[in-house]
Amino acid sequence: MTSLRSLIANLVVYLVAYLAIITIGAAHFAFAQSPQTAPAGTSRLAGYSSESSQTERDWEKKFQAGIVPENLRQNMQRLSARPHHVGSPYDKENADWILSKFKVWGFDAHIETFQVLFPTPKERIVEMIEPTKFRAKLQEPAVPGDPTSNQVAEQLPTYNAYSIDGDVTAPLVYVNYGNREDYEQLDRLGISVKGAIVIARYGEGWRGMKPKVAAEHQAIGCIIYSDPKDDGFFNGDDYPKGGWRPREGVQRGSVMGTDYPGDPLTPGVGATAGAKRLDIKDAKTITKIPVLPISWGDALPLLSALQGPVAPEEWRGALPITYHLGPGPAKVHLKVASNWDLKPINDVIATLRGSDEPDEWVIRGNHYDAWVNGAEDPIAGMVTVLEEARALGELHKQGWNPKRTIIFCAWDGEEPGLLGSTEWVETHRDELQKRAVAYINSDSNDRGFFEAGGTHDLQHLINDVTRDIQDPEKLISVQQRARLQRIARARNAEERAETRKSDDVRIRALGDSSDFTAFINYAGISALNIGYGGEDDADAYHSIYDDFYWYTKYVDTDFSYGRALAQTGGTAVMRLADAGVIPYEYNAEAETIGRYVTDLEKLLKDKQDEITERNLELQEGVFTATADPRKTSVPPPAKAVPPFMNFAPLKNGVEAIKKSAERYQAAFTKWQTAGSDLPARTAAALNADLIQIQRTFLTEKGLPERPWFKHQVYAPGAYNSYGAKPIAAVREYMDQEKWKEADAQIPMVGQVLENVAVAIGKAADDLEKAIAQGR
Ligand SMILES: [Zn+2]
Repeated sequence: MTSLRSLIANLVVYLVAYLAIITIGAAHFAFAQSPQTAPAGTSRLAGYSSESSQTERDWEKKFQAGIVPENLRQNMQRLSARPHHVGSPYDKENADWILSKFKVWGFDAHIETFQVLFPTPKERIVEMIEPTKFRAKLQEPAVPGDPTSNQVAEQLPTYNAYSIDGDVTAPLVYVNYGNREDYEQLDRLGISVKGAIVIARYGEGWRGMKPKVAAEHQAIGCIIYSDPKDDGFFNGDDYPKGGWRPREGVQRGSVMGTDYPGDPLTPGVGATAGAKRLDIKDAKTITKIPVLPISWGDALPLLSALQGPVAPEEWRGALPITYHLGPGPAKVHLKVASNWDLKPINDVIATLRGSDEPDEWVIRGNHYDAWVNGAEDPIAGMVTVLEEARALGELHKQGWNPKRTIIFCAWDGEEPGLLGSTEWVETHRDELQKRAVAYINSDSNDRGFFEAGGTHDLQHLINDVTRDIQDPEKLISVQQRARLQRIARARNAEERAETRKSDDVRIRALGDSSDFTAFINYAGISALNIGYGGEDDADAYHSIYDDFYWYTKYVDTDFSYGRALAQTGGTAVMRLADAGVIPYEYNAEAETIGRYVTDLEKLLKDKQDEITERNLELQEGVFTATADPRKTSVPPPAKAVPPFMNFAPLKNGVEAIKKSAERYQAAFTKWQTAGSDLPARTAAALNADLIQIQRTFLTEKGLPERPWFKHQVYAPGAYNSYGAKPIAAVREYMDQEKWKEADAQIPMVGQVLENVAVAIGKAADDLEKAIAQGR
């Protein structure tokens, strides 16, 4: 589901929103020597004694040396040889093949099957009936020389999964990306989409947001097209001359609603054969209006036939036309009808039992289902995860025994809506909440810079791991390269200074763009999403052209970044699985939550200023005086200035977490400096407490209007979804300008933060006591 482009877009947004890097008191990081003071390989690993550090490093080196790029290439060719979407024969063949591999490599592996609602198209029509006639092809042509692009019989047609069936005819309106701000702009231009079909371009967030917002504005149909400015010839030569989306290339994809991920018929429970199911008509995550995706080749005649105002400058794409908004005179007929069958999905689950703490689980995963051949998304990620499993199996045969249990997961059904991972987590939630140490996800892989998102208790760990991984192009550590990139991308001196102050690169907060979602948001499990990207001169996301031929010509052609990702992911898994004390770090978490609270305060202040200013301009007559009388221009509505809110419970919560985190990290440093392992029973008790800390961020009631999402700090936005909306219980209402409702949520979130502080404090008590006894 993730495209690296969207990841990068999120990263940029993230950077803009939260500056770059945390500043942490050096004292709390005394144990984590920076690469400047100690070359990688000699410093003591966080969570390890000096002796166990050395052993661990030796095994990790062996593991890293054992990753073979040629395996990645061969496995990609095998897994992407035919289309393999949910319910297709080759998807099942891949599941069986992956299962057999895990077994050969020494894992105890099985397939877990669920029955999910997965619509596939029966009938798709986009045609213009006025002022001229045009029927959209809705078909991606094969490319000569690309050997898998002609597998038409097995290719899923271009469509948006979970679009409701519908047959509508109406005037067309161009709505840019189709987000809420775009409709505000349309209001100002006097254009309504009521009773119209909208045409939106892909990009700027979750595609499911486009029909959702369109329906909220009473549109009756939605067409989404790929503008060449966003992923086509505007960026570089298009396929097959270059790697960018060609004229007839279409982005398939899910338009599932954001109320909950997973099977639309079984929210909150595993979609097992006998599970109680909603009626399809009661499933909240199916769209309200029909939606279809089209290529720019199909969009061009429709957009060319629009009249009405010229689109605002930022709305214009790269097509050789004047972009008009409509409505009409283009009148469009849109029809979608699907088979609404239950289909099986098959998760492959492979376990390597831990020697000392078998009931503590370190989980690593990637999805294997694709929209079509899916070489980049998801196979580029899946093959690295498989190569990690193979190399760890090899290590195990040579005598390496992970302390904790390692579980590898190959998810099915990610593309339609995180189906495989969500149903699995829902089914096993109780057990996972007792045992899961962390979940590490990948989804696709490209070429370039290391990128990570996740819960910030793992920020320091992943920085430490990536200090040990070499960048294949620059021969410096991937961590250093990522850090220098932050400096290069910083917008001002302040951001650069922030970045330089910390050795660790700040990780992003995660939304719900891939299979980590149920782990974090539903089960409260610490998680990371990792991958490489940012240097690709290509984009064939969710089209038939994302295949082996394209990937090996335009993306990670020699699999050197595949190798780096396998080294990164596998090392992180090993480090978590073997540590005496699980190396969570809470200063970064406290600092990050503090920033989220500051952001909320700033958001309120900005909104107050903005509305005050606008009301003044309305009074002064600025809008009427400056409007061109030959164009329609509607002044914005006057609004009440937002009231002050009481953020004190959040700030007190953050302070409490900071204090507990400092105390825990001080004890941790003390123990590390002493250098010896904790007695086994003491370590076990401490780890058991540590594992529970992330769970305390959950409330059983969940977010106010999305009860499936239970984490009170990390959450996707209801409208931006792909991206994160931290402290969503408060933030979501603020974005909707429901100030009272937002204010009313603050004490609840404040209490959650206090609970987290208590949980970290308990771990600090455990460790302080252990150190005192050790003397
Ligand atoms: Zn994916």
